[in-house]
Amino acid sequence: MDISLVIPLKDEEESLPELSEWISRVMNANNYSYEIIFVDDGSTDNSWNIIEELRNKNPNIKGIKFQRNYGKSAGLNEGFRAAQGDVIITMDADLQDSPEEIPELRRMIIEDGYDLVSGWKKKRYDNALTKNIPSKFYNAATRWMSGIKLHDFNCGLKSYRKNVIKSIEVYGEMHRYTPVLAKWAGFKKVGEKVVTHQARKYGVSKFGISRFVNGPLDLASIMFVGKYGKRPMHFFGLLGSIFFIIGIGLSIFLIIKKFIDPESTLTDKPGFYIALTTTIIGVQLFLSGFIGELISRNAPGRNSYLIEKKAGV
Ligand code: UDP
Ligand code: MG
Repeated sequence: MDISLVIPLKDEEESLPELSEWISRVMNANNYSYEIIFVDDGSTDNSWNIIEELRNKNPNIKGIKFQRNYGKSAGLNEGFRAAQGDVIITMDADLQDSPEEIPELRRMIIEDGYDLVSGWKKKRYDNALTKNIPSKFYNAATRWMSGIKLHDFNCGLKSYRKNVIKSIEVYGEMHRYTPVLAKWAGFKKVGEKVVTHQARKYGVSKFGISRFVNGPLDLASIMFVGKYGKRPMHFFGLLGSIFFIIGIGLSIFLIIKKFIDPESTLTDKPGFYIALTTTIIGVQLFLSGFIGELISRNAPGRNSYLIEKKAGV
């Protein structure tokens, strides 16, 4: 199969018929064998019925329906698991991303040898204050932390080589950082393509203020997990040891001083309290490292979701 399209959606009933119509047109014009995997992320409108109707007309359309809303990342993750195509392309369901970009996004993977190609909404039709300006900051921060030179990490339109998506796990709000996840999984050839972007035609944006908090925290976890996820002790253990050694050193110094000069007082000097707290913090950090090690070996459920129905996958 040439292409799998993975499309997470929540309450997008008005857009779905138009979107799948448009995708089929592009696919047929290019003679691609393809599947469209719609992941219904707990929609409360009629989206799932529409997906089933669309599937009756076009068997390339498949669906997964979550029992409740888990978020866009969960939708992508399930779609990735089911995808069979050589190239996987993700897009939003709200008609903001154009299916006309599909052939070039695929070509860059197949011919130019990219592992991942990210769309870049150079000209963007969203609210400037709540979306465009904050996203400039996040892109700059993500570029700086990850070392990946992309302009628009959060673009829903991206294409992946099959082994990339089979190697990464997307959860939390990490759909924004799939290029970072891919990099940590060893895929370095990341490309970028300027894509056209439309204003939302139907419905409303599903991302509110929470993404300003959750997004950066998830980036911090990716960077941490990528580097120390399998060896948290190397992070906490080192920090803990440094604190502990400073604390103990200072304590010994104070005790010796007390012996040399019995007149000197201990408890009214800042050094005493610094020695106490650094020793305690050191032990705490060390224990956090151990607990981290234990947890990192025992988290099987972090990426399993309840699926109510499936169609064709
Ligand atoms: N979406 C989803 N689950 C959610 C929120 C959003 O599957 O909990 C889907 C949504 O239906 C759309 C895509 O993710 O297909 C992008 O969402 P939206 O257009 O609301 O984000 P924006 O373009 O405003 O950043
Ligand atoms: Mg949108």
